[in-house]
Amino acid sequence: MKNKILFFNNLTRKKEIFKSLNKNLVSMYTCGPTVYWYAHIGNLRTYIFEDILKRVLLYNGFKVKHVMNITDVGHLISDADTGEDKIERAAKKEQKSAFEIARFYEKEFKKDLKLLNIIKPDIFVRATQTIKEQIGFIKLLEKKGFTYIIEDGVYFDTSKLKTYGRLWPKKMKILPGKRVEMVPGKKNPTDFALWKFSPIGVKRQMEWNCPWKRPSTNKKTKGFPGWHTECVVMSKKFLGIPFDIHCGGIDHILIHHTNEIAQAEAAFGKILANFWLHCEFLAVGGKKMAKSEGNIFTLSNLIEKGFDPLAFRYLSLTSHYRSKMDFTFESLKASQNALNNIRNFILDLRENKIKEKLSREEKKEINYFKEKFLVSINNDLNTPEALALMWQIIKDNNLKLKQKEILLLDFDRVFGLRLNKLEKEKIPKNILDLIKKREILRKKRAWELADKIRKEIENLGYKLEDTVEGSKVKKIS
Ligand code: AMP
Ligand code: ZN
Repeated sequence: MKNKILFFNNLTRKKEIFKSLNKNLVSMYTCGPTVYWYAHIGNLRTYIFEDILKRVLLYNGFKVKHVMNITDVGHLISDADTGEDKIERAAKKEQKSAFEIARFYEKEFKKDLKLLNIIKPDIFVRATQTIKEQIGFIKLLEKKGFTYIIEDGVYFDTSKLKTYGRLWPKKMKILPGKRVEMVPGKKNPTDFALWKFSPIGVKRQMEWNCPWKRPSTNKKTKGFPGWHTECVVMSKKFLGIPFDIHCGGIDHILIHHTNEIAQAEAAFGKILANFWLHCEFLAVGGKKMAKSEGNIFTLSNLIEKGFDPLAFRYLSLTSHYRSKMDFTFESLKASQNALNNIRNFILDLRENKIKEKLSREEKKEINYFKEKFLVSINNDLNTPEALALMWQIIKDNNLKLKQKEILLLDFDRVFGLRLNKLEKEKIPKNILDLIKKREILRKKRAWELADKIRKEIENLGYKLEDTVEGSKVKKIS
């Protein structure tokens, strides 16, 4: 029997008990990056949330089949159908080919995932790997009467689908020129491009032959797929329809995911996925972090400033994924300190817990805390509550070190802070020599000189603690 898990499902706008289609296996699709630049830490907050979601499912005993796409074509400057392709624009700017740009930033993205200890998806799929299937899918929509062709490309007629806008808050209206810009010839403001024709006189780097004709020339023309079509085709290809969970950031709710759902319903008469989960924005001074706002930081920017990538992961755990999170370097510093303290606690504990044996009662106590942890994480991924429980355990004087170690490492299966891979930091030789020198002075009761050396060690970034077993040294965090 599986435990009860509650997720806030944006399809119903309610917290619901999670039920997977298959008893033991969860199918999950997460919208991946548009690889035209480095991911910023706002993007990465969403990928960390998705990793926590996956880890919670694994913790609950599920297997997870996880597919993530790489958008290497078709995402335009606006989320609707106007503006240049982000990758083609970056290629011009960096004077590289669109493929070079896409592959370079895909690699960088994967490096970020590794640094953040995000479990690799089972399948990465590039939009450019499924062009044939996308054309086939648009032909199916065409056969079912949901498309029309204008000078700009093949469009989806949203007025033909009664259920259009299933993810929208009630009564929302989209005004032309406001949320969605109007392309000439588009019938309804919410209609969207399934396939865009390459503009006349422009040679795109990424373009493919297609079966459709441009009305003004009545000739077949090259083009490229629309971003919303890519994700339906790729998710269905690897997970079938419906699948269990689809996620992304909240900016995907109104357009991208709405349009994915619409296409799947029109083509197959089915909902694309049963659960839709979205991560709130990472903001700076209340404003969404976005490249266009000029307020972004990349993971490398944080590393350059001396932070550990996992400090950003820890910071992401401190707020619930459905709450807006304001990024500041003060909060990142606090997370770095908290992470250092947990690491030091575990390293100390390893040295001191030797030979502790646990009674039946003490083992029961471990289960009690595990149950509590499960209640938090299974309640729509309440990571702030789960972190608070971890700190409560660390500070609990009635628990044995062995109990604490078991619990912390168990919780880390979800937190992913790599606590099981800690290695005692190597103390440099010059520091070890100074410690030796100080020990000799202390034995000779030359306290003043010994103190001078302690200060020297501190100036070099290390702290000494005198214990009954001798001096212990730690790096100052
Ligand atoms: P993109 O590469 O633009 O397709 O975005 C990748 C992912 O990051 C998507 O799931 C977006 O919804 C998400 N995202 C974009 N900006 C932010 C932000 N400021 N905070 C959290 N997630 C974001
Ligand atoms: Zn997508």
